Amino acid sequence: MSQHTETLVIGAGPAGLTAGYLLSKNGRDVVVLERDPRQVGGISRTVSHNGFLFDIGGHRFFSKSKAVVDLWDELLPDDFIDRPRLSRIFYKGKYYAYPLKAFEALRNLGVLQSTACVLSYLYARARPIEQPKSFHDWVRNQFGERLFSIFFKTYTEKVWGMSCDAISADWAAQRIKGLDLGAAIRDALARSLGLKARPKPGEPVIKTLIESFRYPRRGPGMVWEAAAAKIAAQGGRVLLDRGVDGVSFDAATGIWTVSAIRGDGTRETYTARNLVSSAPVRELVDSITPRPLSTFQARALQYRDFLTVALIAKVREDFPDNWIYIHDPSVMVGRVQNFRSWSPEMVPDDAYTCLGLEYFCFEGDGLWTMADEGLVALAKAEIGKIGLIAPDDVVDACVVRQPKAYPVYDESYRDNVATVRLELERDFPTLHLVGRNGMHKYNNQDHAMMTAMLTVENILAGYRRHDIWRVNEDAEYTESGFSGADEALTSERLVPRKVA
Ligand SMILES: Cc1cc2nc3c(=O)[nH]c(=O)nc-3n(C[C@H](O)[C@H](O)[C@H](O)COP(=O)(O)OP(=O)(O)OC[C@H]3O[C@@H](n4cnc5c(N)ncnc54)[C@H](O)[C@@H]3O)c2cc1C
Repeated sequence: MSQHTETLVIGAGPAGLTAGYLLSKNGRDVVVLERDPRQVGGISRTVSHNGFLFDIGGHRFFSKSKAVVDLWDELLPDDFIDRPRLSRIFYKGKYYAYPLKAFEALRNLGVLQSTACVLSYLYARARPIEQPKSFHDWVRNQFGERLFSIFFKTYTEKVWGMSCDAISADWAAQRIKGLDLGAAIRDALARSLGLKARPKPGEPVIKTLIESFRYPRRGPGMVWEAAAAKIAAQGGRVLLDRGVDGVSFDAATGIWTVSAIRGDGTRETYTARNLVSSAPVRELVDSITPRPLSTFQARALQYRDFLTVALIAKVREDFPDNWIYIHDPSVMVGRVQNFRSWSPEMVPDDAYTCLGLEYFCFEGDGLWTMADEGLVALAKAEIGKIGLIAPDDVVDACVVRQPKAYPVYDESYRDNVATVRLELERDFPTLHLVGRNGMHKYNNQDHAMMTAMLTVENILAGYRRHDIWRVNEDAEYTESGFSGADEALTSERLVPRKVA
């Protein structure tokens, strides 16, 4: 027996829950199906282990969009706290403030290395690579070869598991946007001299220099648990332990049939008029009947996976950073999160600390398949080598694996996504792709939410009023000035905007 709903949403992460919340708030019938058997929140969930709380990475709540910030406040009115941001880079046994402090960096690098950095920067500015294609080209043009090799190469290659020559320049342009070396040096000098580098009114805030952020006092999962509860209170349904593995569209009736499998092997079927998907594009396309022609392109999309080893240890000497980037090539760990600095409530006992050692990997590789005991042993040895805690002080540990943490921006991703998108929008006007893996966009919660917010407006309007692909990485949305699905489908604007 199938159950009918007006809109079925795949995935109870920030995008799916935003859609579910706004639809149910507008009195619409909605069902959200989530594969996870225990909790909502997707990559933005909060894990609990023996009373210690931690994120999948640390999740800052920052958005340029007032609509998104207002929605966070609506979902969780009383539990956001303001947190100072402190992060450093660990490289060859030394710590560098991030953003850089000029005099400290000069002292750590030494006069020769610092001079070489400046000369290589000047050379790169005078002789830039025309039309940079790779991450390496792009960063070398902006910062010079020497700074690229010290502050970008190792960490980026740890994160992506591939050479910086194989990573698209788009990624650098998106993630390092707004950071020009001149501004960074001015900022670094002001910090070194103890002057606060506040942007002047109207001056854009550089993305990577933001000094404080909002955070739910018990982690990001709080927001998404609250959203799920509000959906239920508004008459919608959020159902866990339902992995969607088949969707078919009947063009004659305009109805979607969705099949979901549960952990015990039982199957459920739902029918719906609208289908909103935050599932990874590759998986969604593979599950659609009739099979899309762009299945080949969807299958070419790649993902980077991620695991956290949370180490719980007695505190001897605390450190104030929220996280530390580990650029040092002698250890495999990419980043260390200090969850007590995110919020004191993440740790139930002041005598202990909880550090999250983050390893970037591919599903099925040596790290991913290593037994938990092996990973904990590796993490203890590496944290000892870095010197943040003594391995013998670790009293408990927990490993969390996160598949498809990052959609990969390789050379062909843009064309592949464009092909899939064009076909799905043409053949299935009531199918709405939202969110991070749902649109194969390497973005934060605010972007995922904004795409869902505009999708809900489209569903309420009954036509594709907004082109959600125009939501940019900072969750800003430019009104495109056109309306109607047909017009949008024939518009030039359907070709994804060049990010660089
Ligand atoms: C290490 C790391 C650090 C980050 N830090 C920040 C940060 O500081 N600030 C910030 O704002 N963002 C941050 N992000 C990004 C943030 O996690 C994502 O942008 C956000 O979670 C995306 O929301 P989403 O709903 O699109 O996808 P997801 O969070 O991936 O949720 C998708 C949900 O769909 C479910 N699902 C998938 N397929 C199916 C299926 N077939 N059937 C049923 N359910 C399915 C999944 O189980 C999941 O629950 C970070 C991400 C990572 C990896």
